[in-house]
Parts: sequence; structure tokens; C-alpha cells
Amino acid sequence: ARQAGRGTARFFSPQMEAEAKRQAALESGLRTAIARNELSVAYQPQVSLDSGNLLGMEALLRWHSPEFGEVAPAEFIPVAEEAGLIAAIGEWVLRTACSQTRRWLDLGQTALRVSVNLSPRQFHHADLVALVRQALADSGLPPAALELEITEGAVIDDIDNAVAVCRALKELGIKLSLDDFGTGYSSLSYISRFPFDKLKIDQSFIRDIVENPVNAAIATAAIVMARSLNLTVIAEGVETEAQARFLRARHCDAMQGYLYSRPLDADRFGRLLAGDRRL
Ligand code: C2E
Ligand code: CA
Ligand code: CA
Ligand code: CA
Repeated sequence: ARQAGRGTARFFSPQMEAEAKRQAALESGLRTAIARNELSVAYQPQVSLDSGNLLGMEALLRWHSPEFGEVAPAEFIPVAEEAGLIAAIGEWVLRTACSQTRRWLDLGQTALRVSVNLSPRQFHHADLVALVRQALADSGLPPAALELEITEGAVIDDIDNAVAVCRALKELGIKLSLDDFGTGYSSLSYISRFPFDKLKIDQSFIRDIVENPVNAAIATAAIVMARSLNLTVIAEGVETEAQARFLRARHCDAMQGYLYSRPLDADRFGRLLAGDRRL
């Protein structure tokens, strides 16, 4: 459909209009989501491929909107970034995950580490290091029990600055992981400049690892590279025993995926920790 707007001709398809409307509605919903208690954090276990032991968990944001129901983070996080809301939401996730993990540690879970995702915008926020320091102090979480997941997209634009931010974060005593590995440039030369502790192989490679020789080769190369850089390596999106066997045979350290568990709300994750396998 053609619409004349303020002297310029614009072209909108009905789909584009519907999309723009939904984005605007999501944005206004997100503005009040924290205050109205609509956000929560789900926790997905990360387990050792050798021992099967629980190593930690990734904190994954959930939004239950009264208007839209469950909205996927893949949809609302970009909206939050665009609208300038990601700093507040990201801080809320970080603080929530730190205090929750601190409570689990207090219940006797000695070796538990929580991984929190950082969006590129958050990563470039001037106060990131101070914010993380404050979240640790306020929650009483030991720094070594916190890991931040950073994607290549967040660091690729200005590598020198990103390296400096990562070093400052590491000085707090926390861990850093490179998320979605394999989806970007992933070159050895730049990754080796960063003080990462862990590399997360993206689930797009894991999905058909058993059938697709190219993705099998990429995953294998990622494991070898991680080892050569002294990083631990975790595969995400592991759904089958065959995938786990493949990874174990190539000495991948850990896995995260539906095979072991879907992301769980805090209550159910707590029950998993307490050893209740029925959850
Ligand atoms: P991600 O960081 O790569 O997180 C992993 C995603 O894979 C999660 O989707 C998780 O539920 C899903 N997943 C885990 N195991 C499996 C599996 O075996 N099979 C399949 N098919 N999927 C699996 P989720 O929770 O929908 O999150 C999507 C993305 O949204 C995340 O991808 C991350 O980029 C972003 N995100 C989630 N929470 C946050 C947050 O608190 N802050 C920021 N900045 N981004 C977040
Ligand atoms: Ca992640
Ligand atoms: Ca990921
Ligand atoms: Ca991803």
C-alpha cells in the first residue's frame, strides 16, 4: 500500500505495519516490565561431559507480558536495545542472578557459578565495571562465582577498548566467556588477545554435528583451539546422547542443552540442586 506522509511517499506493506506496531507495543510494555514484576530469570544447568557434575548455570531472561504472554528474548532484547532499556534490564538480570546464586551458595552449594549474558550495548556502557563490582558487593556473591558471557559482536568493533574492558572485569575476579563461538570471525589472533576463560560453541554447529561433516569439523577445531589457548570449552544446544558422545570423544569439557535440562525457573532449579530429580 502506498501512503503519502508529510510530502514524502512511503511504502509500507501490511506486514511491516503490523511489525512496527508490535515493536512499539513491546517497547512500551518493556518500559514498565521491571516495575510490574513481569521479568524473571530462568537457569539452565551446565554439566561436565566427563563426570556429569553440575558446574553452573546460565541465567536466561524471561518476560511474561500480560498483553503478549511469554515473549522470547530473541524478540524483546533487540527491542530493549533499540529503546535504550537494556542497561536497566541488564542490571536487573545481573543483580537478580547474583543474589539468587548467593542464596544457593548459602544452602551449601559450594561449587556453583552463574553465567550472565551481556548485550553489546551493555558491554560498551561506561559504568559496566562499576556496576558489576556493585552487584557483587550488594549480593555478597564471591566474584569467582560469576561469569559474564560476551558475544563477538560486542568486541569486534573496537578491539583495543574491548580488551581493556575485559581486563578490568577480570580484575574483579570474575570469569569471562566468549558466547556463540563460530558465528562470527572467531580468529585465533584476536581471541588470544582477550582474557577469556571459556569458549561456548554455538548451538548451530552442535545441532547436526553427527550428520554434518562441516559442522563436525568446525566444532572439533573450536575444541582444539580452546585447548591450545587454555580455555575451557562448552557446547550449547546439546539435545541428544549422540551429540554428547561426539563431544566427549573430542574432549569438550562441558555441555548445556535440553539433553540434560531445559532452562528452569528459580524454584525448579533450586529443587534440582536439592537433588529432587522429579523437580
Ligand atoms: P544464548 O545466550 O545463546 O542462550 C542460549 C539459548 O539457547 C537460550 O534461548 C536457551 O534456552 C536455548 N537452548 C538451550 N539449550 C537448548 C537446546 O538443547 N536446544 C535448543 N533448541 N535451544 C536451547 P533463550 O533463553 O530463548 O535466549 C535466546 C537468546 O536471548 C540468548 O541466546 C541470548 O542471546 C539472549 N538472552 C537471554 N537472556 C538474556 C539476558 O539476560 N541478557 C541479554 N543481553 N541477552 C539475553
Ligand atoms: Ca549466552
Ligand atoms: Ca550462546
Ligand atoms: Ca545464541
